[in-house]
Amino acid sequence: MVIVMESEATEEQVDGIVGRIESIGLRAHLSQGQERTIVGIIGDERLVDPQVFEALAGVERVVQILHPAKLASRDFHPADRVLDLGKGVQIGGNDVLIMAGPCAVEGPEQLEATADIVAAQGVRVLRGGAFKPRTSPYAFQGLGEKGLQILREAADRLDMLVVTEVVSNHDVPVVAEQADILQIGARNMANYSLLRAVGQTQKPVLLKRGLGSTIDELLQAAEYILDLGNQRVALCERGIRTFEPSTRFTLDINAVPVLKHLTSLPIVVDPSHATGKAAFVGPVARAGVAAGADGLIVEVHPKPTEALSDGAQSLPPAMFATMMEEVRRVAAAIGRGVA
Ligand code: PEP
Ligand code: MN
Repeated sequence: MVIVMESEATEEQVDGIVGRIESIGLRAHLSQGQERTIVGIIGDERLVDPQVFEALAGVERVVQILHPAKLASRDFHPADRVLDLGKGVQIGGNDVLIMAGPCAVEGPEQLEATADIVAAQGVRVLRGGAFKPRTSPYAFQGLGEKGLQILREAADRLDMLVVTEVVSNHDVPVVAEQADILQIGARNMANYSLLRAVGQTQKPVLLKRGLGSTIDELLQAAEYILDLGNQRVALCERGIRTFEPSTRFTLDINAVPVLKHLTSLPIVVDPSHATGKAAFVGPVARAGVAAGADGLIVEVHPKPTEALSDGAQSLPPAMFATMMEEVRRVAAAIGRGVA
């Protein structure tokens, strides 16, 4: 349930509503829009009589939210949420944000070269895995803390932000110290203790959809982070498992408009993991932007054939440049820029 305050409601009236909610043992979350404040009620809603609240001064109306992810819902926060990520970079506004870099940090040379390639295309957010969740225990597992350091140094040299995955609660402090955006990978979308751990930081989170998870489950995973007070969450469609074997996963393009309808959190598309093949990354990236994505996260490698992970889907420099050019044209066609 959310309480929509009148646009002229005073701070005291909002405080009064919050106090009243807390006095019956429930919790209140505030969403301060440009026009009005919305108070979200968290807890057993049977304790709330909507008519009582509707009669209180400053209240415009009480709205039932049927979706279990209340704080993520557009009802709670109607306007598109624009997240400040640092260094003047935002996601969720008019510009589509590009995040690019290798699947994994393999060493300083590879990472520096990749950072130069993506920065040359105007990219402000460098991706790269230091802690890698690999399907096989024998595959390259990432450089860990050393990898984080390499990422940070390369990004700082080019005034870029870092997005990197955190795979365990134990690593959250060290990753949060070095990274600007914490990525929760598809395999950890439903790792609720990890979601709580990143919810307790004040770092922006890029939450990827589980490969076998529904849109509702993704929204409820985001709810864990939001409920702990971390409001900077972006959601990522990265392909789901279907019966179709010709690509690594199947990008659920529907998820983009469906998520935009259900939530005002920014939506990102990952065409690299969705397709698994470099040749298909550009077209799927274009489709994501055309469907309304607020960002793309793309794997790029100076020499994909030598990559230690996900080489087949990593774009070499020239293909990345082409993708950027095409994405800019698609974005322009729907009145958006690319950042
Ligand atoms: C990644 O971004 O490198 C990654 C492992 O992605 P996902 O969690 O979507 O598989
Ligand atoms: Mn990868």
